Amino acid sequence: MGLVLHVASELAPLAKAGGLGDVVYGLSKELIKLGQEVLLVLPKYRHLKTEEISSLHCTFKKTFHLADSRPFEVFFWKGSYQGISLILIDPQSPEAIFQRESIYGEADDIDRFLLFCFLTVEYLSLYPPLCSSLHLHDWPTAFIAYLCKKYYFNKLPRYKIILTIHNILHQGRALPQHLVRFGIELTPDLEDPAESRLINLLKSGLLCADHIVTVSPTYAREITTHAFGYHLNSVLAAHPEKLSGILNGIDLNYWNPKSDPALVMHYSPSDAVTAIIKAKEKNKAHLQHILHLPISSAPLVGCITRLDTQKGPHLIAHAIATILEKGGQCVLLGQVADPNIHKEFLLLKERYAKNPSFHFHDRFNETLARIIYAAADFIIIPSLFEPCGLTQMIAMRYATIPIVRTTGGLADTVHDIDNTAVPSEKKVGICFHDMNQEQLDHALDRAFHLYQDKIALQKTLKNIARQDFSWKESAKKYLKLYQS
Ligand code: ADP
Repeated sequence: MGLVLHVASELAPLAKAGGLGDVVYGLSKELIKLGQEVLLVLPKYRHLKTEEISSLHCTFKKTFHLADSRPFEVFFWKGSYQGISLILIDPQSPEAIFQRESIYGEADDIDRFLLFCFLTVEYLSLYPPLCSSLHLHDWPTAFIAYLCKKYYFNKLPRYKIILTIHNILHQGRALPQHLVRFGIELTPDLEDPAESRLINLLKSGLLCADHIVTVSPTYAREITTHAFGYHLNSVLAAHPEKLSGILNGIDLNYWNPKSDPALVMHYSPSDAVTAIIKAKEKNKAHLQHILHLPISSAPLVGCITRLDTQKGPHLIAHAIATILEKGGQCVLLGQVADPNIHKEFLLLKERYAKNPSFHFHDRFNETLARIIYAAADFIIIPSLFEPCGLTQMIAMRYATIPIVRTTGGLADTVHDIDNTAVPSEKKVGICFHDMNQEQLDHALDRAFHLYQDKIALQKTLKNIARQDFSWKESAKKYLKLYQS
């Protein structure tokens, strides 16, 4: 049995801010099914759900002394969560940087995750686990690759380092002063490609990793271009042999319309399509009831998203107008971080205050998300870019037809019902290519038309039921990479 070592800033559901947490959890679980042992190094956040971790105990304590701070103690904890072995890193005052409310979004995030990287390699040099691969995730842990190759090469085993990019927009860019306390010198490998006065932690990891994986094959190609690479495209394009795309999966137990407690009527992809439609109608009536929408068989389009520039908020707003004009219903579940975008959507809510066919909920609410996935006829995802996207896969797991812009993982998982280049059984959704209102309107026209054409609708739902979005194949691809 092999051992795979992950270092990450999230693990769903113990400490989750987004898709990264789901991926670390889902991939680890599947690797365990494939006979691997998984060891994950994670910060011990204050809000980490420690009550769910078994055999949690502090294995040892060590005092560290950085150039600019008083000595501080670090507790290293061990435990296990659903078969995943954990090492939790817990620095104490005056460096108690994980005793905060959130995982990201603190003013000193760069310092927090630099210290996490440093303490991780210190731990690994003291207690090197018996494994050959080290798997890192996004900028918070990418710098570990740089530390391993440049500073700890004679203190650590020669790991094969895999770095997964979950979203290249976030790179860990900062002033070089942050490195001084660790005694790290500034080198060209650390320099940000857009602003030479900054460092870029993701870039340092990309240069030092042996394999770079991103979360879908299309996104792997897109990030080598100027439009999607956010200035790291040339770094990636210079090492094409290192870069590949492995599609994320979803946890089929976690997202299961057969057992989901949020649903009023359960169903399964293996049911007859007429039974699936009937169960969805019941869930639709339930959603209409709880949100005070008219009880009607009009097509219902859901949108479940962070309302952020990446997700195409202007096209989402336009889609709402079009759906309502066409006599459909629309439910938007979208949390907003940007105050300007928030203001726009509150105005939109006001504009449609008298239209009962629209509902906007501006918080994160997983129970409501589950009911929408089950109730909606369509889910709309007009993203500017989408590294993989879980929403479309979850929607299809709940027999909801995705309407997507063909980018990143959306392009890899949703094939258009009219696409003649793919086999008929792969046609599962409605796609549009350009980020504009005309193409979006045309996609909605086609969706409404499909909704009226019961034979074509049933055929599409049958195709959706046949898709496999589990981690099975993707975990095997990662395993091959670890073993190559
Ligand atoms: P990203 O990670 O870029 O936000 P993904 O499509 O990869 O987008 O994953 C989004 C996940 O977050 C999905 O599980 C989706 O159901 C969930 N989600 C997004 N917004 C909300 C919300 N407001 N309430 C509940 N769940 C949400």
